Amino acid sequence: MTIYAECEKLAAAVDQSQPAGEFLDWLKTEKGITLVTYEHWTEQDICIYAGCEEGFMYGHKQRPCSHCNGTGKQTYSREGWVPFAHNLEALLAEWLGIDLKKVEEERRAMLRDIRERQRI
Ligand SMILES: [Zn+2]
Repeated sequence: MTIYAECEKLAAAVDQSQPAGEFLDWLKTEKGITLVTYEHWTEQDICIYAGCEEGFMYGHKQRPCSHCNGTGKQTYSREGWVPFAHNLEALLAEWLGIDLKKVEEERRAMLRDIRERQRI
């Protein structure tokens, strides 16, 4: 094993990662099929409590809504299928057991080594 073990692992895995990446790209561009992931998130939206009108009780402009405390907005929990918007290269690397952070560290070390050898 060399000092650039993770880079060698990445190079050796190209036979697997390239066809997998091309297949996913083909699915998306030729077939309109994309990866989705089930996620939970929160988002702010208008308060939908019955009787709340922009944060105040309907007909009572001095009485703030007890659900949104007069802001007219609430934070809602959401969940559902959303397009996979993360880095596909990172996903392929994870599938192949390759640590991309180590690859980057090794590449930087490799460049440092090359520069130092050129000085000699
Ligand atoms: Zn409200």
